[in-house]
Amino acid sequence: MDNDHTSIHEFDFDLICEYFSNLERQGPGSPEVTLKALSFISGLSGESHIADIGCGTGGQTMVLAQHAPGQITGIDLFPVFIDLFNHNAGKLNLQDRVKGVVGSMDKLPFQPETLDMIWSEGAIYNIGFERGLNEWRKFLKPGGYIAITEASWFTEERPDEIDAFWQDAYPGIDTIPNKLGQMQHAGYVPVASFILPENCWIEHFYVPQVSAQDAFRKKHAGNQTAKALIANQRHEAKLYIKYKAYYGYVFYVGRKL
Ligand code: SAH
Repeated sequence: MDNDHTSIHEFDFDLICEYFSNLERQGPGSPEVTLKALSFISGLSGESHIADIGCGTGGQTMVLAQHAPGQITGIDLFPVFIDLFNHNAGKLNLQDRVKGVVGSMDKLPFQPETLDMIWSEGAIYNIGFERGLNEWRKFLKPGGYIAITEASWFTEERPDEIDAFWQDAYPGIDTIPNKLGQMQHAGYVPVASFILPENCWIEHFYVPQVSAQDAFRKKHAGNQTAKALIANQRHEAKLYIKYKAYYGYVFYVGRKL
């Protein structure tokens, strides 16, 4: 590849990918909440087909695979994440049931009504909650389940600073009752919803980034994009600590009518 023609965007993309590939998770979550969401789902068997959309390196997928039967296909846009995903599946001897493929959530490689369950943690925002719920529904069998985490407001009102941050980062953020209404409107029965506890953000997401940031900073010393990426993640973590009473991730479990 001719590096002179590498666009800033491609460069950013590679750096972002490298930064997050050093982490077990690429978004807030924990094995406990994955299993809690799974506890609301029944009827899975060895014949079931599950998709984990925006799976990243597979932190939650491997937990799912160890507690749910059937085949799991992980889909992610980033090939580096999918390589790590398949490597992780192999390490746990799950390679016969768990496969990662590169693909986009707006063009899923499934036939209509073939999935028993769609899983997606911290990823649906990439196309938007409503759009994802509407477009993915056709891939589920009738009675199939969807389980997703999504950034949500806990209150009707909040301080300007955090409101402005989210309006810029993801204007699709909304209150829990509104998200449940969107789920119902898209043709699912809302089966359960619960707020992810703080440890999903702090112990499982922001704390592991601190040591990853040290290594990343050393490796990319003098690189302004790397510096900005770290500063951005730290800012996000600070905002979370300051405003965690007002927002967080919520697990939404629905069943296709
Ligand atoms: N589910 C993982 C990763 C969440 S981060 C976890 O909870 O740890 C969001 C993921 O969505 C990233 O891995 C990113 O590469 C992926 N992603 C972003 N846009 C995507 C798209 N259009 N299609 C598929 N995956 C996408």
